[in-house]
Amino acid sequence: MTIKILHLYPKEMNLYGDHGNVLAIKRRCEWRNINVEVINYEPGDAIPKDIDIIFGGGGQDSGQSKIEEDLQRIGPKLKSMVEDGAPCLVICGIYQLFGKYYRTADGTKIVGANILDIVTNAGPERLIGNVIINSYGFGEIVGYENHSGLTSIGPNAKPFGEVASGAGNNGKDGTEGCHYKNCIGTYLHGPILPKNPKLTDFLIKKALERKSHTEIKLQKLDDEIEHKAHTSAASRPR
Ligand code: GLN
Repeated sequence: MTIKILHLYPKEMNLYGDHGNVLAIKRRCEWRNINVEVINYEPGDAIPKDIDIIFGGGGQDSGQSKIEEDLQRIGPKLKSMVEDGAPCLVICGIYQLFGKYYRTADGTKIVGANILDIVTNAGPERLIGNVIINSYGFGEIVGYENHSGLTSIGPNAKPFGEVASGAGNNGKDGTEGCHYKNCIGTYLHGPILPKNPKLTDFLIKKALERKSHTEIKLQKLDDEIEHKAHTSAASRPR
């Protein structure tokens, strides 16, 4: 069996090691003898059939503007995949653009794909630093944030977790990220997956289950190094 990962816009949207998330999924699959194919998707490309995991990283406002038009084009296809239960992880810049819009500090509205029920407006300062959250599905999650966008979640989505340390969605309501079906949007770079292996395995498990229509129990891996990385990051709160 081969898992196909769609990596959205790796040229423009890849901040603070976000690419490492794709490597983490790939490695944890390969350690279990599951083949992985990574499709680096750039504007104008066709989305191949049978995509199993969608991933998109963060980016500067300028990068977000560059991909806006293409994201409009493929948005409905991505939305139908998410609605169908495809596992998906989107970080910061693409997280914002999986929502309705991101309004930048100069008032430019970058229209999103409207997959997640969120809106984002740039705030007066950048929110930067290490973050610890208590996620609703995966226990403690650690990462790093750097954004000016302030995100609010609408009634059709739930947060990914509660902020224990850091700013999260907007620095005010104590929420971080968004969890809708098997799609997780979060501000956490770092990259997030290598030090939060439970989240990586969630994406892999959901991908295999959607593909095979059976419940999957993933082979256990030795996560000693991953847990050390997690503990080390968690010991450096903002
Ligand atoms: N440009 C967006 C913001 O500043 C996203 C930044 C990011 O992806 N780190 O909010």
